[in-house]
Amino acid sequence: MPDRRKFVKLSLLTSVALLINKRSNASTSTDSQPVVTKDSPIVISTWDFGAVANAAAWDILKKKGRALDAVEAGVMIPEADPDNHSVGLGGLPDRDGRVTLDACIMDENYRCGSVMCLEHIVHAISVARKVMENTPHVILAGDGALQFALANGFKKENLLTPASEKLWKAWLKRSQYKPEINSENKYQHLPGDIHNHDTIGMLAMDSTGNLSGACTTSGLAYKMHGRVGDSPVIGAGLFVDNEIGAATSTGVGEEVIRIVGSHLVVELMRQGLSPADACRKAVERILKYNPVKSKEVQVGFLAMNKKGEYGAFALQPGFTYAVKSGHEENTYASKSYY
Ligand code: ASP
Repeated sequence: MPDRRKFVKLSLLTSVALLINKRSNASTSTDSQPVVTKDSPIVISTWDFGAVANAAAWDILKKKGRALDAVEAGVMIPEADPDNHSVGLGGLPDRDGRVTLDACIMDENYRCGSVMCLEHIVHAISVARKVMENTPHVILAGDGALQFALANGFKKENLLTPASEKLWKAWLKRSQYKPEINSENKYQHLPGDIHNHDTIGMLAMDSTGNLSGACTTSGLAYKMHGRVGDSPVIGAGLFVDNEIGAATSTGVGEEVIRIVGSHLVVELMRQGLSPADACRKAVERILKYNPVKSKEVQVGFLAMNKKGEYGAFALQPGFTYAVKSGHEENTYASKSYY
C-alpha cells in the first residue's frame, strides 16, 4: 500500500512540480496550462492521489501495453487504498452507512462498461470492465451488479473501514448533506471533517496512440442510498473518442450529468479547442444555467487530445491533476473560474 506521506516527500525530492493555481475569468485563455505535444504514451488523472495511480498505469504503458489495461491497473491503486475516503475500500458511505461504488471504463473502440451503486466489491472498475467484455450490456446496477461480480469470482468484502465508520457516525450527529468544495486533506480526515467527495478519473494514450479512460468513486459522502453520480455515466464522468480525445470529471456529479460534461468536452475538442479550453467551456456551461449554485460547488474537468496535449479547468480553485509520460511526472493545479 503506498504511504502518502512518503510519496509526498519523494515527490518533492524528485522535483514534482505543483504549479500554483491562478485566478482567471471566463474571458481569458487557459492556454498557459502546460501543453505536451505528440507525447505517447502518457497518462493523466484527477487529484494529487492520481500520481500513485499513474505510476501503476505507467508500468504497463512503458512496456508498450494497452491503454485500457493501464487505466484499469492505475485506478485500482486508490480503489484498494483504505486511507482514500472517496474511492473503493474505505470510501465514505451513504447516509445509511452503506459504501456504494460507481465506476466506468471505455476503450478506443467505443466499447464501454459501467457499474452503479455496487456494494462489497473493492475493484468496481474491474467489474465494469467485465460488464463491457462479458455481457451484451453497458451498465449493471445495484444488486444485479453485485451478483454479476460474485458470479465472476470477485470477493465480497466489507468496504466500510473503522475510520470511515467513525466519520459517518460523527456526520450522523448533524446529518446535514452538503458536498464540500474540495478535499485537499482527504488523508487527514478528522471525525466530522468537512471533506466529503472526490473521484479518480484517468485517461491514457498508449504507444500505438490509442486512448482509453477509467473513472471510479464512492461518490458523494452521505448521499441518499441509491444515488448515482456522474462517474459511472458514460458521457458524463468519462468519454473517449479515439479520433479526437478523452475527458473525465470530478466534483458534484449532478451538475456534470446535466450537461453530459465529458462528452461535451470531447465534442468541443472536435471543434478545435485545446483540452484546457474545452474544459473551460464546459465549466462555463454549468455556470450559465446555474450561476448561484456554481458558487457553492466544485466541478473539475480533465482532458487529453489525440496529440497527447492535456488540460483541465474547474469551477473552484483546488482541483489538481497528475501527469506521467516518458519525460514528465508532475502534479498541476488546474485553473478555475473563481
Ligand atoms: N463526481 C463524484 C460524484 O458525484 C464525486 C466527486 O468527484 O467528488 O459522485
